[in-house]
Amino acid sequence: MQDPKHYPWFEDEQAYLPFDRSAWPPALLIAADADLGALELSHHWISFLLCEDPKLKEACGLCRSCHWLQAGHHPDFFELLKADEDKSIKIDAVRNLIASLSQTAHERRAQVVLIYPADSLNEAAANALLKSLEEPNDRVYFLLLSAYPLSLPATLRSRCQTYLLRAKQAQVLPWLQSRFPDKSEHSLQQALNLARGLPLAAERLLRAENNSADLWIDDCISVYLGQQSALIVAEKWVSRLQNEHLKGWAYFLQDLLRYQLSNRSVFLIYQDRLEAIKALVRRYSLDQWLICAQKVWDLYGQRLQGSNLNFQLSLECSLLALEGV
Ligand SMILES: [Zn+2]
Repeated sequence: MQDPKHYPWFEDEQAYLPFDRSAWPPALLIAADADLGALELSHHWISFLLCEDPKLKEACGLCRSCHWLQAGHHPDFFELLKADEDKSIKIDAVRNLIASLSQTAHERRAQVVLIYPADSLNEAAANALLKSLEEPNDRVYFLLLSAYPLSLPATLRSRCQTYLLRAKQAQVLPWLQSRFPDKSEHSLQQALNLARGLPLAAERLLRAENNSADLWIDDCISVYLGQQSALIVAEKWVSRLQNEHLKGWAYFLQDLLRYQLSNRSVFLIYQDRLEAIKALVRRYSLDQWLICAQKVWDLYGQRLQGSNLNFQLSLECSLLALEGV
């Protein structure tokens, strides 16, 4: 799990450790989406609460408790998680949890329970939990994490101290820029908007986009190598081809030209495609690649201006540019 220190939007000291250990609420409802890094932050708090030798704002990372947590089996840390295949967290799980807590409570310095997503506790499970929250043991800490805290029963909410976790939005875009240095600010912002401002969801979207950019270049290469039909590839991509794909394609062809002219790979953007570039350079002449690259730049330019009436046809022509040259 990522250390929340890598998420600069939490730099706010308040978020990084909102309470002193002595003032930590026995039941804390963290209102936040997991795609804000709330789970990672919760684990940071959990290790702090369980640490045998905590520093001012974090666990020591060295003690027995810290090692147990790192190894993924701490006898005083309990998770109540909804399995993917389940609709809710059920009463049996809560009963088992309470039994485990009471069996071991007397020997422990502290026990921590993470419930996620807390809004998936069904009604019976929430009721079973109420009693433990009403009569808190001073060594037991409950962390309930939910992106939809208002959908928890009011009785449960009233037993918890709510902590609303927010990202400092000004920190999010620079973080994405550092993760995706090749992307324009516009496309990063676009991903962030699609992800409702949630940085980890935006990161996932951008990674998927990157993957699709790779797949697109793979398909172009296979057309050039005569392994796939240009018409089929055009048909497959026409509806999902973004400007970024076209730009990547144009850059790939630029790499081909560079390599053909210089026979050197140091300046290539697509270093990882060097073998394919070598094969393609052997297959067609410089003139053929120049024509091909020009068509793709034209297509990209038309797309940017929104002036291309029949994009599919132009795409086919560009992919077919090498044939009959
Ligand atoms: Zn420690």
